Amino acid sequence: MENKLYFYNTLTKREEQFIPNEDGKVSMYTCGPTVYHYAHIGNLRSYIMEDLLEKTLRYIGYDVKRVMNITDVGHLSSDADTGEDKMLKGAKREHKSVMEIAKLYTDAFFSDCGKLNIKTPDVVEPATNCIPEFIHMIRVLLEKGFAYEAGGNIYFDTSRLKDYYVFSNHNEKELLVGVREDVDEDVNKRSKSDFVLWFTKSKFDDQELKWESPWGLGYPGWHIECSCISMKHLGEYMDIHCGGVDNIFPHHTNEVAQSESYLGHKWCNYWFHVHHLNDKSGKMSKSKGEFLTVSLLESKGYDPLVYRFFCLQSHYRKPLEFSYEVLDNMSAAYEKLVKRIGTLERSGEVDQAGFEEYNVKFEAALCDDLNSAMAITVLYDMLKADISDATKLALAESFDQVLSLNLTAHREKAAEPEVDAELEAFVLAKIEERKAAKKEKDFAKADAIRAELLEKGIALEDTREGVKWKKI
Ligand code: AMP
Ligand code: ZN
Repeated sequence: MENKLYFYNTLTKREEQFIPNEDGKVSMYTCGPTVYHYAHIGNLRSYIMEDLLEKTLRYIGYDVKRVMNITDVGHLSSDADTGEDKMLKGAKREHKSVMEIAKLYTDAFFSDCGKLNIKTPDVVEPATNCIPEFIHMIRVLLEKGFAYEAGGNIYFDTSRLKDYYVFSNHNEKELLVGVREDVDEDVNKRSKSDFVLWFTKSKFDDQELKWESPWGLGYPGWHIECSCISMKHLGEYMDIHCGGVDNIFPHHTNEVAQSESYLGHKWCNYWFHVHHLNDKSGKMSKSKGEFLTVSLLESKGYDPLVYRFFCLQSHYRKPLEFSYEVLDNMSAAYEKLVKRIGTLERSGEVDQAGFEEYNVKFEAALCDDLNSAMAITVLYDMLKADISDATKLALAESFDQVLSLNLTAHREKAAEPEVDAELEAFVLAKIEERKAAKKEKDFAKADAIRAELLEKGIALEDTREGVKWKKI
């Protein structure tokens, strides 16, 4: 198939034409959330832009398999293997077990993703599912001489690599500065850049989750999970690996080190990194200032898709500054856009040449290093163009496969039949009557009420959230 997508590859440090290993197919891996707290909207910027990449690939004809991990074990808050364990911190904060915290925040993460129209990856794998795979990889790294045991822990030996800093954003000097600032320097390491693959002796003696291993009862380091989970589902050769820019070092650098040492060949060809969402004081974080979540935006009256629209209006390779002022402007623009699309008439023919003209422009914008702001400009231009309403509507629906902004939501709402207030009051009264009958174990009466409503064309459904009704 024709390869026309270009995007910036952090590995080669240039914009490159995307050529997958297998024609027409793409294997894609995303570093998932650490589920110790809600995702902030900065985290979600990364997931929105990765969703845009996946949907662009699908739109231009690729068959994509996307895998994401859930970090539900480990992940130290300092990347020098010395900071506090985030999952443990979360569990202590909320007086819950680590697994309870993981479940709570995994569900919250996917609920946020749903509100932002972020597609769930084809495979989602929690790290705690893959302990045997981690142990296997660490064992092979030890056998091949890429790892060593010290003080009860297993470390990756970075001195064995000719080019450890593959993304070369960091050099040893900078790293040493980082270590000097760190009071808890790990004395077991042979060199500063070495990292833990498996802990048995750590300062977190109250670590809740531990597993048997050839090196004793312990738990994995953070980086090993992404290498193992991606290989488990995508094999030894991967096309695209994604994450936020903060993942480049040390996380992705360490992933490359251990994966390629284990495999004995190159692993992933393209590295896609999303720049940060900042607030006025700098990088957004979960501990600093107002904790900006999707729910907070909703509680302030914003449609979550306004935040998606805001993200798509800027390039993924530029830092983005959040402010309510800009969000207000986005909200007004978004509402106007959706209303405008809502006025389009479906009647009439779709003009194929007109459709093609704007679709080509839309794809060209996305294929130019995912220029989503330009893709939205094409949408606006198309709405002003001299083509039929039916063509515009078909284009808006098509573009929305990638933009995922519910562009035709206003139309659909307007098309919904008005609910007759009198009928609604009648049905609700009947539902209450039926509820009372059930409470008194008068099931015959409850059934009779259901049948009476059915005769009037109203179907009842008992759900966990209560009784729902619809016209049939
Ligand atoms: P975490 O849950 O901390 O592992 O982070 C989940 C994802 O969010 C990772 O891909 C991070 O690189 C990304 N990320 C963290 N902070 C930000 C931010 N302020 N803006 C954009 N992405 C971020
Ligand atoms: Zn990762």
